[in-house]
Order: sequence, then C-alpha cells, then structure tokens
Amino acid sequence: MALNIVLFGPPGAGKGTQSERLIQKYGLIHLSTGDIFRANMKEETELGILAKSFISKGHLVPDEVTINMLKEEVLKHPESKGFIFDGFPRTTVQAVALDEFLATMNSSIKVMLALEVEENELRERLMKRALVSGRSDDADEKIIQNRINVYKNETAPVKTFYEKQSKFISIDGIGTIDEISNRIYGAIEKN
Ligand code: ADP
Repeated sequence: MALNIVLFGPPGAGKGTQSERLIQKYGLIHLSTGDIFRANMKEETELGILAKSFISKGHLVPDEVTINMLKEEVLKHPESKGFIFDGFPRTTVQAVALDEFLATMNSSIKVMLALEVEENELRERLMKRALVSGRSDDADEKIIQNRINVYKNETAPVKTFYEKQSKFISIDGIGTIDEISNRIYGAIEKN
C-alpha cells in the first residue's frame, strides 16, 4: 500500500524542512498546498490571484478551491509510491474529502504526524523566516497572529479526525532538524 503521510502542524512548525527529508528517504511526492498557491501567485494565474486575496490576510483559501487543486495534483502522479501532504488537510471538510478521494483510488492515509511547537517559538520562527522568505504573510505580526488563530480554531480539530482513526502521532517539534527527523522516521517505521 502507498505510504501516504499527512504532515501536520502550525505555521512555522517545520513542515517544509522535514518534508524535504522525507521525500529523499522514502521517495515520496511532496504536495504542499502553500507552495502550490505561491507558485500560482507568482505566475498570476486565476487561482493565484484568488488565493492571494485570502493568504495575504492570513485567512484560509476556501475549501472547495483547495480540495480541487489538491486532487488535480495527486492525479498528476499516478505512479507515486506515496504522498506527503504538507499543509493539507487544514479543515475537517478537507480531511473528509481527502479520505473519500483516496478511497476512489483504493488508497488511504497511513499516518498523521503532528509537529508540536508552542506559540511563542512559532512567532519567533516566523519573524525570522520573514527576513529570508520574502513572504508577506510572514512579515506582519497581525497576519502571523491571524494564521495562528486560524490554526487553533479551524485546523487543530483535524487532529481529532485522525485520532478517531488511530492514525494520529504527536512529534515534538523542538530540537535540531536531525533530532526531529529521527523522531519522524521512528514514528513511520513503527506503524
Ligand atoms: P504556513 O504553514 O507557514 O502557514 P503554508 O505555506 O502551508 O504556510 O500556507 C500558506 C497559506 O496558504 C496559509 O496561511 C493559507 O492561507 C493558505 N493555505 C495553505 N494550505 C491551505 C489549505 N489546505 N486550505 C486553505 N488554505 C491553505
């Protein structure tokens, strides 16, 4: 069965960094909804212009738009050994849609790995990242706070969804990049 992983965590938790490691180690396809939106914003596609109006405020892009985009990306990789879903699902509606979609391909999510980092550390990391990322949503404290609030209210409940399926694994997101990777590998290999 395909190794499909949901890599979960608040903004700044280190999902992107750890995804890089996972694709190399397990030969997976990395699908970051944030990256896909940013690529579309750069190209000024219709999707990019729409996404920007939400992202620049620290809001979520509407579920229907995000889900359709994600499905299209998955369908581009029929031979994949598995996917890392990074930044998706971010709402329970998205989680249900992902399960239903994978089921149509006789596939499913194997584990949800949740990187846990406390709020003050997140704020600090995002402010630092703003200096190098060029991301306007990292540069403004109010927008950062919005994203953290959206995470708490809309995204954190997605944990419960996977907990009910016994697929939820919490990973301590504080430490060196290697330490955190090793925790993640351990969790994948135990399951
Ligand atoms: P971070 O995890 O640092 O917030 P991402 O790159 O994952 O960054 O996402 C950036 C922005 O893109 C989010 O704040 C949100 O506006 C939008 N976005 C990304 N993924 C989703 C999603 N699954 N559903 C809705 N909006 C999303």
